[in-house]
Amino acid sequence: LTVLELKPGEYEFIWTHHHILMDGWCAGVLINEFYQIYRSLLNATTPVLAPVIPYVNYIRWLAEQDQDSSQAYWESYLSGYEQAASIPFRKADSEGYIGGEEKLVLSGEEVAGINSLCRSAGITENTFMQGVWSYLLGRYNNTEDVVFGAVVSGRPAGLAGVENMIGLFINTIPVRVRYAGSMTALELLQQLQQDAISSMAHHYVKLSDIQSRSVPGNRLFDHILVYENYPVEELVSDGLAAGEQGAGLDALSLQGSEVVEQTNYDFTVLVSPSSHGKGIQVLFRYNRACFAEEDVQRISAHFRQLLTGFTAHASQPLQTLSYLTAAEQELLLHTYNDTAVSYDRGDTLPGLFRRQVELQPDATALVYDGRNFTYRELDEWSGRLASYLHAHYTLSGEELIGIKLHRSEWLIISLLAVLKSGCAYVPVDPSYPEERQVYIAEDSHYKVCIDDGLLASFRAGEYSPDCYHEVREDQLAYVLYTSGSTGQPKGCMLEHKGLVNRLRWMWEHYGFTGGDVVLQKTTFTFDVSVWELFLPLCFGCKMVLCDDDTVYSPVQLAALIRAHEISNAHFVPVMLQSFIEHADIASLYSLRRVFTSGEALPVVTVTGWYRQTEIPLYNLYGPTEASIDVSYYDTKPGINKVPIGKPVANTQLYILDNYGGPAAAGITGEIHIGGVQLARGYYNRPALTAEKFMVHPVLQERLYRTGDLGRWLPDGNIEYLGRLDDQVKIRGYRIELGEVEHAISHLPGIGAAV
Ligand code: AMP
Ligand code: MG
Repeated sequence: LTVLELKPGEYEFIWTHHHILMDGWCAGVLINEFYQIYRSLLNATTPVLAPVIPYVNYIRWLAEQDQDSSQAYWESYLSGYEQAASIPFRKADSEGYIGGEEKLVLSGEEVAGINSLCRSAGITENTFMQGVWSYLLGRYNNTEDVVFGAVVSGRPAGLAGVENMIGLFINTIPVRVRYAGSMTALELLQQLQQDAISSMAHHYVKLSDIQSRSVPGNRLFDHILVYENYPVEELVSDGLAAGEQGAGLDALSLQGSEVVEQTNYDFTVLVSPSSHGKGIQVLFRYNRACFAEEDVQRISAHFRQLLTGFTAHASQPLQTLSYLTAAEQELLLHTYNDTAVSYDRGDTLPGLFRRQVELQPDATALVYDGRNFTYRELDEWSGRLASYLHAHYTLSGEELIGIKLHRSEWLIISLLAVLKSGCAYVPVDPSYPEERQVYIAEDSHYKVCIDDGLLASFRAGEYSPDCYHEVREDQLAYVLYTSGSTGQPKGCMLEHKGLVNRLRWMWEHYGFTGGDVVLQKTTFTFDVSVWELFLPLCFGCKMVLCDDDTVYSPVQLAALIRAHEISNAHFVPVMLQSFIEHADIASLYSLRRVFTSGEALPVVTVTGWYRQTEIPLYNLYGPTEASIDVSYYDTKPGINKVPIGKPVANTQLYILDNYGGPAAAGITGEIHIGGVQLARGYYNRPALTAEKFMVHPVLQERLYRTGDLGRWLPDGNIEYLGRLDDQVKIRGYRIELGEVEHAISHLPGIGAAV
């Protein structure tokens, strides 16, 4: 005990003790006794204090409890709780403890709302606070089942005189809250109140015993919420107000008190109740080594948002309550998605190609196998092939035409011929297994397939090079089959306008010019090929088509890049890694930009890249369902994280949590895509289309749900965090494990596969 004289008549009294001696409740008892003794001394009388009730009574009481039934209670209370909910925004590398505090003082109006809800619902203020907190925790963790710690007084009502005993009674117990988004706030609170009543008889069990009977064990919760139901300050001022005046007592007044306490938790929410006409105060006490001040401020703002949300909308489904502030909503939904660029509308791939033919008919459009092809040559040959198709087949607009060819100039000519015909192509890799080829033919009902046989018959005849058909921007350009989780691939339908947007964005954003040379090496069954093919053809630069053998040989690829002074190349990240390891990158003087996409780009690949070169490496992200790519990130040497970046032109990205609401920056959610690049849907799969492409009820916008997890970083870039489902990538190819399971389980002798 230390008394410091601050100035005459003003003192600070410091009282330090280990928690094992007593808990916060005792302070009231002790301060009361202090006043009694003080008064007696002033009056020169002997203080008469109430008899001490020994702590051993409590020990005896403990021994009488039915431990087994309490243990069983907690075991069942926590059964099925496996994934511990945690406080978000924790810094990755945190050591030591540096105290930090964030205070939230609720306004009189807010407190009145809370009080009136608590009264009408028959719940305590503690339950209210716990209920709101549990919901926020659920939103942060995308779950409807959370556990956090709470401190209870631990003074059993059945123990005589317990309220005047000195000692350590308080305990930390888990509070589990399970709810459904369709429940109302009121229902959650009332259920929580019931649970609180039933758990009271078991508050005495040691936390370590409770934890050891749960799946997460000592990681059951990472923070506590303390409802301070016995504030020293209040008691003191009460005692003084009620105390006798006179005999010098009025000369003593307590001006304030402060309890400094350190717990084992890096995050504690301390709620001081509303009483004695005072408002509710919420104190967030945290470890600054683990949490940034601005993040704790955001948590505080979210909590406040929900405190009022609960009182104002107590009878609405929980999932409709948003925890974001208006400013955050504006930032996440609008500011980050402010990508509008007015491009000329009405353009299509064949239309743009035709413009290049007019502008530079004799420029080299394509280089393949040592031969050059001009725009005019490609135009004429594709015109002839289109004429052949129209001569032999009745082709209405948007007719599907298969293309099953190996890589050569004929592949390019065929693609152009189909598009000029006003038809959409369906790529079929000739090296696919027979069954897959047949499946695509049957599922897409393509009218005809351009293969080597068809080309032979075409070359045997004479056809006019002039064949132009009207093509609208909302017409289909291709139907691309991707792996399906239920066993069969699905055809994704893409329209010209989205592709044109994607290509134009790329051309302008990266400053491409007619002098650029693009390497075409991606197979045409993968949509990355679409920009490698049509960026040069439609916007006017040279394309170098790589043959099948070169694609997988880093050394040959590097030689090709050198020989043709290629300035742009794309690699899926694993292929880039192998390229870095096996090719002489430093000798690739012509390269101006390298793009990766298709799967997560590892930091080591970025680091490995810049160790050898300064050529910029761009990370692009996007699903087939949204015209190749929807976000971009410019990597730099020395970065320790590779985000997928920001939305491209006329594209919106939303990160929505399990209730479909925007997730706060830093909170994981599913990436949703809106804007001009969205596919029309899946061919002949209305149910699947409706499931994956939905109109968001609040945003009133058509969105594609990617199944990708991500979160907003503080700088407005998105970080990719894996998949919600079992989709994997193998060398950039999208594979649903469900399709593999389906294939295996249909083999003879196999009952089931996982
Ligand atoms: P695909 O339709 O073949 O383009 O595959 C799309 C999927 O590939 C996305 O939904 C992601 O899961 C993954 N993906 C594509 N690009 C990236 C990237 N840059 N980083 C991480 N994952 C990516
Ligand atoms: Mg993609």
